[in-house]
Amino acid sequence: MISNRKKNIVKTLIDNNILHSQTTTIGVMDFEALRQTCEDLHHAFPAPFKHTFAVKANALTDVLSHLRECGMGAEVASPGELAIALHAGYTAKDIIFDSPAKTRDDLQSCLANDISLNIDNMTELARIDKLMQQHPDTRSIIGFRVNPQIGSGKISSTSTATATSKFGYALADNDNREQLIASYLARPWLRSIHTHSGSQGCPLSLMAQGIAEIVSLAEEINAQAGQQQIVRLDIGGGLPVNFSSEEVTPTFAEYATVLKDEVPQLFSGKYEIKTEFGRTIAAKNGVILTRVEYAKNMGGRHIATTHAGAQVATRTIFLPAAWPIRVNGFLPNGELRTEQHAPVVQTDVAGPCCFAADLICKDVSLPQLAADDYVMIHDTGAYYFSNHFDYNSLPRVAVYAIHGNDDTLTTRCIRESQTMAQVVASMSK
Ligand SMILES: *Cc1c(COP(=O)(O)O)cnc(C)c1O
Repeated sequence: MISNRKKNIVKTLIDNNILHSQTTTIGVMDFEALRQTCEDLHHAFPAPFKHTFAVKANALTDVLSHLRECGMGAEVASPGELAIALHAGYTAKDIIFDSPAKTRDDLQSCLANDISLNIDNMTELARIDKLMQQHPDTRSIIGFRVNPQIGSGKISSTSTATATSKFGYALADNDNREQLIASYLARPWLRSIHTHSGSQGCPLSLMAQGIAEIVSLAEEINAQAGQQQIVRLDIGGGLPVNFSSEEVTPTFAEYATVLKDEVPQLFSGKYEIKTEFGRTIAAKNGVILTRVEYAKNMGGRHIATTHAGAQVATRTIFLPAAWPIRVNGFLPNGELRTEQHAPVVQTDVAGPCCFAADLICKDVSLPQLAADDYVMIHDTGAYYFSNHFDYNSLPRVAVYAIHGNDDTLTTRCIRESQTMAQVVASMSK
């Protein structure tokens, strides 16, 4: 099943001569759908929630400035992401800096510019102690990223709250909890606590359990401080996305229901609550469109060789079992390819990279694809367009924004494909 809107998007891109017989691969971000997703988020989680978007999921500046206009802040995790967020118009008060490897310069720049940050470990705290002497009046809201060590979800590479995860301060080890509380009590400027219990593959109850841990930690610090020292809780992102159909599940509303049940303090108004959703904001609001260059049969399997592979779908190519994606074929005229056009055959949709595993999907039932068809790769709005992989020196793909309602769609280029000169420059001094 595929939505009429997506069918209209393909027609519009063909009408505007963006998809044609020379097109290789493009990305598409549906700005109207993004706006709707942000509305759903704000509706499910109104104040005291304040939402940021995890920039790593889609760092295109036009996407970011659109999300800013939709009421989002920005969660950044590198100097590059910070620079991009500032370029997209975010101001210090709406940015959170999270990184497990902040340099002294990164820390200094956050404090000097009033950007909030989440501390990863005690060594980082010691560095901040020193820097605070130069920036005693910083308006940065500072606190620890805590790893509640509650266990893994289904995908180990995105599970961040395991006993041995590389992220944050291990709350359950030895007497770490007592030490952390003492560190807070000795520093009244430590005013927030952050956890990001995991991403794709983590059940909602596991996420809620991690969040409950930081709430109880906050209550304990506040009780011992004799005042409300902790004013902000940052509950991270990580809401999973359904990649198997057009349906949005779980919804923000469903997540809110789980949290209201299991961590009602979040909704009390006592704390400002930050979120950092990435995948759930963007994934279902973007697609990749690529042209079939050749189609052939090998060993009883139909192979459609396209121009989208590891350069743009890196995670899916290397971890296909964890990150499967759905595809649909379209005729060169933009009609959805159905059984009326060709028999359904077992198909591998291949990418252009020179290694055998460069397959977008394997052994899927599809009406037989032909040369010059287009393939839509669904749910690729997050972690595809800003996670380029240089294999075979393929260029970064162009990305187009879609605006408007179904009968009046318009398109706008928000990133050109890299030129050959830029590709050469990226391999030169
Ligand atoms: C990646 C990340 C997020 C976003 O995770 P999603 O699964 O995309 O929602 C949020 N916070 C931190 C600290 C992250 O590293």
